[in-house]
Amino acid sequence: MITGKTLVAGVVGRPVAHSLSPVLHNAWLATAGIDGVYVAFAPDAMGLERLANGFRGGAIRGVNVTIPFKEAALKIADRASPLAKAAGAANLLIFDRDGKITADNTDGAGLLGALAVQAPTWDVHNGPVTVLGAGGAARGAVAALLAAGAPKVWVLNRTLAKADAIAKSLGSRVLPLPYAHAASALQQTTAVINATSAGLSGDGALTLPLELTHPSTVVMDMVYKPLETPFLAQARALGRPTVDGLEMLIRQAIPSFEAFYGARPPSDTDVRALALKVLNP
Ligand code: NAP
Repeated sequence: MITGKTLVAGVVGRPVAHSLSPVLHNAWLATAGIDGVYVAFAPDAMGLERLANGFRGGAIRGVNVTIPFKEAALKIADRASPLAKAAGAANLLIFDRDGKITADNTDGAGLLGALAVQAPTWDVHNGPVTVLGAGGAARGAVAALLAAGAPKVWVLNRTLAKADAIAKSLGSRVLPLPYAHAASALQQTTAVINATSAGLSGDGALTLPLELTHPSTVVMDMVYKPLETPFLAQARALGRPTVDGLEMLIRQAIPSFEAFYGARPPSDTDVRALALKVLNP
């Protein structure tokens, strides 16, 4: 039941109608019996700041932020966590009672959480990691992997200058590499993480010689629509352990839920099954 005390939070993106976040958060709220609601907002291209300014002082508790607003979200915040600063982007804004906006980035927690759940024997400390892409998601992934203790992270991107920029801001453990030289990284890496939008809803898939990787190399795709991207299908056919983008989405939502509603999501709600029903009606 919605009451006068209902805690309101949501997600801001454009487009946002396809977002699975309302499905996850509202299912957790219902099971936990929390008087709260989670809704979607789609401001126009310049509208994030106006929307966020309207919520200052706690008109609503906070919002998750998705494409294309993650970098703008960090810029409008008054305070930011070290991970959001390192990622150069925020996927979580909290509207504090003092009128300030605090930015955080839980995508890194989502990435590491998904690896822990679906590839439990993989250890970030054990060797180099390869990240494909150099957009906002890749930058966040690299920052989180470094903070978790990855000894070295190769960043492969079509536009090499963007990979160079990540190395420049995140330090000497980051090594930019063109796709043409992927073989040397693939032969040594313990995990390959696709943080490009290739493979999204049937878009041009990545073609990478995954057969060069060690049989224990974990292959992860952040894209979850389709759940089995051509990239993950290639890895599965080679027998590599795989991690999907839906698990990352669920794991990044957990700290967001805690920040909005002050409680851990109930563990007995199968939000993955619910999300799969929405993805494959
Ligand atoms: P972005 O900033 O637009 O960056 C897109 C990246 O993909 C760029 O590095 C781009 O390379 C690369 N790219 C696009 N098409 C490509 C292709 N056909 N071949 C090779 N590279 C290609 O996007 P983003 O915010 O980083 O997001 C990237 C993906 O991660 C999106 O699909 C997003 O939905 C997903 N994501 C998932 C989660 C989750 O929880 N599962 C969280 C965050 C993001 P250039 O620089 O050369 O153009």
